[in-house]
Amino acid sequence: MFLAWRWCRCWIRRGVFLVLGIALIMGLRWPALSKPAFAQVESIALWQQASFPVENFQAYTSAFGYRTSPTGGGGSQFHYGLDMAAPQGSYVRNWWSGKVIEVSDHTSCGTSAVIQSGQWEHRYCHMSGWVEVSNGRRYLVDPDGSIRYEQGQELPTGERLGRVGMTGRTTGPHLHWMLKFNGEWVDPGLVLRAMYEAQQAG
Ligand SMILES: [Zn+2]
Repeated sequence: MFLAWRWCRCWIRRGVFLVLGIALIMGLRWPALSKPAFAQVESIALWQQASFPVENFQAYTSAFGYRTSPTGGGGSQFHYGLDMAAPQGSYVRNWWSGKVIEVSDHTSCGTSAVIQSGQWEHRYCHMSGWVEVSNGRRYLVDPDGSIRYEQGQELPTGERLGRVGMTGRTTGPHLHWMLKFNGEWVDPGLVLRAMYEAQQAG
């Protein structure tokens, strides 16, 4: 399948698996990182804890990297996330436990949340709902999806962060998922690959 192939082609397999595993260990301060010989085993255990970020996943519709503009205008642009198509209303799940450092609804990312987990930042775009400010506190709310949480709140892995929507600049319902490690963009496809390999190993 073309989309699957296109997503696969950027995997640099084992090396990346190991490097990301070690990066994750450092980023999340896994307690037993003193023995490098066990690093890979521990990274497998770590990746097994992560949550796939969307329910009812259908297809990867746009990979991380250069692409032609999907909304016209020609030219190529860098796509700093992974697009994951899912039916409108599907729940978006928190990839890793962490703190909500931003909720927003006024950019091309639409109704969105950013979670910080150690040195990782994960951003979820184009969700349903909106941001509500009350008593100086900022909440992401989606009443039809029973979603309400506050900027600054700690959320566990797998928590419902919202639902796939059409907010912001988007041509169809999907989750635009973005990852940063130490302030640098990371291809979310590599992370999902590491999670997949860890599940196969487990
Ligand atoms: Zn996207």
